Amino acid sequence: MLKDYKIVLATNNAHKVGEFEKLFFYHLGKEVKIYTLKEIGFEGDIVENGRTFSENALIKASAVAGEGIVAIADDSGLCVDALDGAPGIYSARYAGTGNDRDNNNKLLEELKGVSYRDASFVCALACIFPESSGIDPFVCKGVCRGEILLAERGKGGFGYDPLFWVDSKGKTFAELTEDEKNVISHRGDAVNVLIGELRRIGQID
Ligand code: IMP
Repeated sequence: MLKDYKIVLATNNAHKVGEFEKLFFYHLGKEVKIYTLKEIGFEGDIVENGRTFSENALIKASAVAGEGIVAIADDSGLCVDALDGAPGIYSARYAGTGNDRDNNNKLLEELKGVSYRDASFVCALACIFPESSGIDPFVCKGVCRGEILLAERGKGGFGYDPLFWVDSKGKTFAELTEDEKNVISHRGDAVNVLIGELRRIGQID
């Protein structure tokens, strides 16, 4: 896959890189090595000051793009219909503390008395080839629809997982195994779209 290039995910989070390697494996059926920023010697700070998931993903991927590299970067979050898409790009710091429990409590508070609780997990996955390739930067979007419960359920996952109910599974994200979540998640969906696009432009068989 992408024989002439190293795939670099714009993160230093080794867990996230592992998750993306698994996602590529599920959706492509082949092992793909993904490099972290550290592995390519990138030490700068990346300021995520975009107004959308896509802008933030492109900011992160642009920071590492260069010769010999296919830079990919994701930006994700929860968008609740009844809250006009909030917390959206502010998902990680919704309650202002950066703490998952506080974010979940704030979400329950905001949805008090609201019966329409449909929501989406959204992932924007930016991909930037070197200038010399002639391939324009592009962003793939992944979505997983669900509903926000009245109280947390399940012990797995992270973030808003215990509140995010997926009807087709009869479980919250926090009750799914890692493999089950990876197949249906917004990140899984975005990787699937990316693989389709790479195939379309002749970068993978
Ligand atoms: P990131 O862009 O992947 O770092 O995600 C930003 C924030 O969105 C996280 O800190 C979580 O609050 C929320 N989020 C993104 N993906 C998930 C998920 O799969 N489960 C639960 N929360 C998520």
